[in-house]
Amino acid sequence: MSTLNSKVAVVTGGNSGIGYATAKELKNLGATVIITGRNSEKVKNAADELKVKGLVADVSDLEAIDNLINQIKNEFENVDILFVNAGIFQPAPIGQISEEMFDHQMGINFKGAVFTIEKFLPIINNGGSIINLSSVNAYTGMPNTAIYAASKAALNSYTRTAATELAPRKIRINAVNPGPVSTPIFSKTGMPEEQLNGFAEAMQNRVPLKRFGKPEDVSKLVAFLASDDASFITGGEYNIDGGINVNPL
Ligand code: NAD
Repeated sequence: MSTLNSKVAVVTGGNSGIGYATAKELKNLGATVIITGRNSEKVKNAADELKVKGLVADVSDLEAIDNLINQIKNEFENVDILFVNAGIFQPAPIGQISEEMFDHQMGINFKGAVFTIEKFLPIINNGGSIINLSSVNAYTGMPNTAIYAASKAALNSYTRTAATELAPRKIRINAVNPGPVSTPIFSKTGMPEEQLNGFAEAMQNRVPLKRFGKPEDVSKLVAFLASDDASFITGGEYNIDGGINVNPL
């Protein structure tokens, strides 16, 4: 794969899981990497480990994104790669969907992604690449995930339209749909451990390849889409899911 030398890459939610692995991969391929996250201590620790720049910004706070852009502009001017990765997973059965959960999950996974891109656009170089971290969950009908799934389906729909609008600037935009990947996202749901284990087992059983993905599985696909090797790819969605999309039930 071609290197990412001389490219500046931003990874939102880069202090954990898939974002962390991708920041590492992009850096190994030669990019200058900036990770962002909500928690200043976690961002600093991850940035120190990865030897990259770490900046704090909650993607559901538009003013915080403005501050982030100003800091990046001052130090790096423009960026070439934007990995829109920050997201949360809050399962709830239909009938128990609260307005607070709806707004929070949509606010980060969809609105947060849209306004991250909206605000970064003026500083993305022509020829740049945006990768939205979606989920195969948008299509699998997995019980208790209606709002999470809808937030990712909305992101995929947005990605297609954005691809046509951004093409004149030669900015490519694609979505990546992972299946279950071993990251801290599940323990952050607040589910009791026993329920969490049962949920993980049920999910793994539905994956034809019978395992959870690793963050590094996803980071390699994201790095490819970020690179000039993918220069004819835009408006696409790429499943990386052990085959769960063809084995939904
Ligand atoms: P993770 O919890 O390890 O990482 C999520 C990252 O997003 C963290 O760095 C977190 O701080 C950040 N984040 C969350 N809310 C934020 C906010 N408001 N502002 C800024 N940063 C915020 O989980 P992960 O699994 O690595 O998740 C990364 C992405 O992958 C998410 O968008 C998630 O929906 C998606 N995804 C995960 C899986 C999976 O099975 N792990 C599957 C499909 C899609």
